[in-house]
Amino acid sequence: MWSMKKILESRAIFQELQITSMLQQQEFSIKKVYKVMLGDHEHVHWKRVACNNKASPKALFVTWLILHGRLATKDRLFTWGITNDDHCPLCNEASESISHLFFECPFSRASWNACQQQLKEVVTVRALTEEINVVALKSKRSGAKAQLYCMMFAETMYQIWLQRNAKIFGGLMLDTVANFRQICFRVASRCNECTRKFMLW
Ligand SMILES: [Zn+2]
Repeated sequence: MWSMKKILESRAIFQELQITSMLQQQEFSIKKVYKVMLGDHEHVHWKRVACNNKASPKALFVTWLILHGRLATKDRLFTWGITNDDHCPLCNEASESISHLFFECPFSRASWNACQQQLKEVVTVRALTEEINVVALKSKRSGAKAQLYCMMFAETMYQIWLQRNAKIFGGLMLDTVANFRQICFRVASRCNECTRKFMLW
């Protein structure tokens, strides 16, 4: 009885998705139906930063929220009326937005600059959009150094978010050197043989 009900429900879905022509032309496949059900969505250029990255799941989740602009930073909480303080807890000199917290704040900038040096990249100060463009380009490359860059990016974002939370909730906050070491430790622990050599050079 249950299976019959499901078959009848599927027929309604097929009619709704206009898949009958696919069936009539004997071109039916699960893959094609899945694509029709997904519908048309805008492709984001940074997709592989979150989906093709060997960083830890927690780091990828924070990075994914940053890329979407959905992290609950104080500027957003302030707009929603949840807090009356929108100051960055790391420097207390600016409003805490995603772009400030991760790329403009001196603490975060020092951490990411140290990571760029570790990767033997030219240390460049960029705004949020530019940083996302650079890491998105790296994520499309297959080389070990590009993979490491993407891992380092995600783990740096996560580590900054941890430090920000530690400062707000009274935990132990690291200085920039210890923070950089913690990022390296987390990245190195997830490296394979190819990416590890770029951590040790
Ligand atoms: Zn700051």
